[in-house]
Amino acid sequence: MQYQNYINGEFVGSSDGQTFEQRDPANLQNVTGEWPKSTREDARNAIEAAHKAFPSWADLGVYQRAEIMSKAVAAMKSRTEEIVAALNEENGKTLEEARTEVSSAIRESEFQISQGLSMCGETAPSAQKGVFAYSVRRPVGVSAIISPWNFPFNVPGRKCTPALISGNTIVFKPASLTPKVGRLFLDLYIEAGLPPGVLNFVTGGGSTVGEEMITNPLVETISFTGSTDVGKGIQQSVAQNLKRTQLELGGKNPAIVLEDADLGKSVEAVATAAFACAGQWCTSTSRAIVVRSVADAFTEKLLERVGSMRVGDGRSADVDMGPVCGTDQLETILNYIDIGKKEGANLIQGGLRMMENGLNQGCFIEPTVFTDVQSEMRIAQEEIFGPVLSVMIAEDFEEALELANNIEFGLTSSIFTQDISRAFQFLDKTEVGLTHVNMMTAYREPQLSFGGVKSSGHGIPESGRTGIEFFTEHKVAFINYM
Ligand code: NAP
Ligand code: MG
Repeated sequence: MQYQNYINGEFVGSSDGQTFEQRDPANLQNVTGEWPKSTREDARNAIEAAHKAFPSWADLGVYQRAEIMSKAVAAMKSRTEEIVAALNEENGKTLEEARTEVSSAIRESEFQISQGLSMCGETAPSAQKGVFAYSVRRPVGVSAIISPWNFPFNVPGRKCTPALISGNTIVFKPASLTPKVGRLFLDLYIEAGLPPGVLNFVTGGGSTVGEEMITNPLVETISFTGSTDVGKGIQQSVAQNLKRTQLELGGKNPAIVLEDADLGKSVEAVATAAFACAGQWCTSTSRAIVVRSVADAFTEKLLERVGSMRVGDGRSADVDMGPVCGTDQLETILNYIDIGKKEGANLIQGGLRMMENGLNQGCFIEPTVFTDVQSEMRIAQEEIFGPVLSVMIAEDFEEALELANNIEFGLTSSIFTQDISRAFQFLDKTEVGLTHVNMMTAYREPQLSFGGVKSSGHGIPESGRTGIEFFTEHKVAFINYM
């Protein structure tokens, strides 16, 4: 099937007629759709449409905006299985993973709409007699939303909902690996009655469509989720014109396991966060840092758990882990496994592309565990973004904390312990934006902010109260009434 862009309320192809194909990562023979390989001109048209639509969308009352948007959220509930099928087809997620993504998107959307309805400024006493002082929040303008393929429904939702409810208009570029999921998000909003030009949708490459979205002077805010390298490039390119950026980037998230941890629970949390979505959550656990006295026992339980995981097409209900998302991912991850072996890490589980029982048609990699991983190794420092877990040994809590922080990334972390004093020392010192005690590195809830520190993020974080903060400006007024 051939799909189109959506610009100013109309479906249109790319201006030069070029297209690209998306393929099912569980079976690469299966072309799931043909999409516009849009040009910079297409992106410009979409930006101009969003610019034109901005004043009337911004002036519409927030209750009217919420009424339209709530219809889209209701449709997320009634059409969940359609979204699940698209997530499955394009990203390879299992049914359970896909359903969790949709239900998270619904909760986040509802929370951000409610934030919009209570979007408040402040009043403050004035230093002058007879002067009234207040501030209000105003939308900023055209927003460029650039999203990744690993949460192709929830990430656009987390960005577009606060942008729209607070009165901004949008150009949305989905990742090229997951345009159909992005298109479904768009469809729900079109059917809910969003006016033309408010949400525009353009598919195509990061270096064409994405580049135009970043450099076009009509764009005021850029909310990007993706790799650290691309995020740094965006920040460099906006430095000249002071656009506001929100960059949610890579991670290399540690889970520390101390000697007094409940090993059963810590293995469960580490294995879940390491291998769910084939290790392609930005919040996945990729380093298990275990104190020496429990390292053998932890590793034994971990191998038992990982060895029983069933890998296959995510559409089948008895599968625990689906494929990795596409041939580039497949190649990158296998290359990192090779690097780990060459660096002298001990490959104790998995490590191979899976070829039996028809899996050779897709991008399947065994759940992989390395032990004897040293902190300076590339597999301990670089984001692999696949089903590969490095187990590292620390002599004690202090060394575990040092290893956890010895990294350029700072997205999420966890500690497993019964010792409240060490738990709080860890919470004080861990260099991340989201951290946990006795819970997996991926756990989060929409009412609190989500964003990384160090090279994992930049700007006002998403979600929670800051979700709306990013998309609004403060206007302060003083009124002399005497
Ligand atoms: P990516 O290559 O950086 O791509 C992300 C998005 O940016 C895609 O839509 C991509 O378009 C676009 N893009 C690529 N190059 C661009 C450029 N030069 N200018 C503008 N846009 C450009 O990242 P990915 O491989 O898709 O996603 C995985 C990464 O995302 C991982 O590093 C992961 O940790 C991170 N992530 C972070 C979070 C978080 O919240 N911190 C959440 C999820 C994922 P194309 O698809 O057309 O290339
Ligand atoms: Mg990429």
